[in-house]
Amino acid sequence: MLNAMNAEEIYLQNNKNRVNNPNMYGICIELNLMHLQVNAIIQSHLIVPDSDSDSKNKVTFKTINNQHDDDDNSNPKQENDLIATTNVQTCAPAFKCIKQLINQLFADAYTSNNDHVCKVADHLLSDMPRFISTPLSKLYDPCLYAAIHELQTRIYFQLLACIKKMNHKIIYGDFNKVILSTDHTCPEHARAQAHHLINHLSKNKMFQWMNIELDKVWDRLLWVDDRNHCGIICGQSAGEITLHREWDLMRFMPHEIQSSFATIVGDYVAMLYTKKSASSSSDHDSDRITLLAKKFIRENLTQRLLQSASIIQKNKQVFKMDTGSMVSADHLDAALEFVKIVCHVLCFDFQIRDDVQIMKSNALKLINVKDFSRGAQFRDLRTSFVLPAVTCNFCGTCRDLDLCRVVDSDWKCENCNQSIDVHQIEGRLLDYVHKKMIGYQVQDLHCVKCGSVCADNMSSRCECSGEWACKQTPAQSQQNLILLKKISARHGLARLSETLQWMLNV
Ligand SMILES: [Zn+2]
Ligand SMILES: [Zn+2]
Repeated sequence: MLNAMNAEEIYLQNNKNRVNNPNMYGICIELNLMHLQVNAIIQSHLIVPDSDSDSKNKVTFKTINNQHDDDDNSNPKQENDLIATTNVQTCAPAFKCIKQLINQLFADAYTSNNDHVCKVADHLLSDMPRFISTPLSKLYDPCLYAAIHELQTRIYFQLLACIKKMNHKIIYGDFNKVILSTDHTCPEHARAQAHHLINHLSKNKMFQWMNIELDKVWDRLLWVDDRNHCGIICGQSAGEITLHREWDLMRFMPHEIQSSFATIVGDYVAMLYTKKSASSSSDHDSDRITLLAKKFIRENLTQRLLQSASIIQKNKQVFKMDTGSMVSADHLDAALEFVKIVCHVLCFDFQIRDDVQIMKSNALKLINVKDFSRGAQFRDLRTSFVLPAVTCNFCGTCRDLDLCRVVDSDWKCENCNQSIDVHQIEGRLLDYVHKKMIGYQVQDLHCVKCGSVCADNMSSRCECSGEWACKQTPAQSQQNLILLKKISARHGLARLSETLQWMLNV
């Protein structure tokens, strides 16, 4: 059971599996991935060979790992292979049952003559991920879940590798969606290419039971991450466009500052789109647009940024901090934060970085902040604490809840509007806190010099003469608990608050 992970750890793992390449992009396609988990279970014999399956079918992951140039070199893949195999092997009987069940449901859903059976099977299949991943479900077993999650991760990376093989650059990827940049200059061509790609992928045996759909075509996309981006979405018919903005970064800003931030960045993206569609496609085009963008920054945006900054300073506006921030609003200069966030976001367009830096230093001069001072560096004010797989007891909708940013309406299910069971959430948080505490108490001693783990209880120093130290310092382990303390106070979770009070005072 040591390999078993709970939902919180799985969530952290999922975050590691995320691919994110911020930049300014031309025409991009966004694909929705569905049934990744069910597909991973059905096709598991292609990943980890069953005892009764043909070993020739086994995929060699070494080659795949070389293809995706992730920054994670710390884990040798061979070791991971071993973990995956043991994960599946430790719960082999349970895994076999689940696989048989899903195969049977698939057969019922697609081949049964009885309409009613089809419907029920289909329904059960779509609920399967929830049955497997929700701790309250009767089918939930941490070990089984860890095994399935590992298989899912492998299929996902295999999918990314296949996409890369077809010369697409991946902007963003998680278990639910992938965004790719294309070389096309026309959205229609990109759409056709997306269909070609989906066709190609669905022919691959490994993704046979997955559903991949084209969700959106973007023309100009300023991408920071999945909760911070701005771009133009092209509709089905030519000329049908919408500017889409999503900025979690600005959630602490007062309303007026939010709108000037969103307009400045939105106008920049819209300007790139108009200039691009006005010109004919040629090789010199991108250089010309870069020049125009630089000119736009110098002649238009700089002035607007300076104006907004001085208005903010004059009005003495204050940021509205919530539980999601470790900084209190009294320590923040609203005008300075505004300038920093605008320039931070625009800097993700690498072509205009120098001009944005000039604009930033002009704005800093205006609000009397030194260019290279510590306060002038951008820092993310947001923290988050995500509780994965929070399920509505009424309709069964499952979602991840960021407890740092929930507003009162979030305590209701987004599907059926029934209240979420707060006691259930509190129980899970208490469980998390206890596990954290135990994890801290039973942690290994590590050598500060070579990093090896202390294997005996008696030695005062490592063989390399380095000193032993705990890997997690008290401050590190306290950090999350302090955040949880704030969350519990904000949402009136009395038992959790009491427990944390006791733990932090010990
Ligand atoms: Zn509901
Ligand atoms: Zn050592």
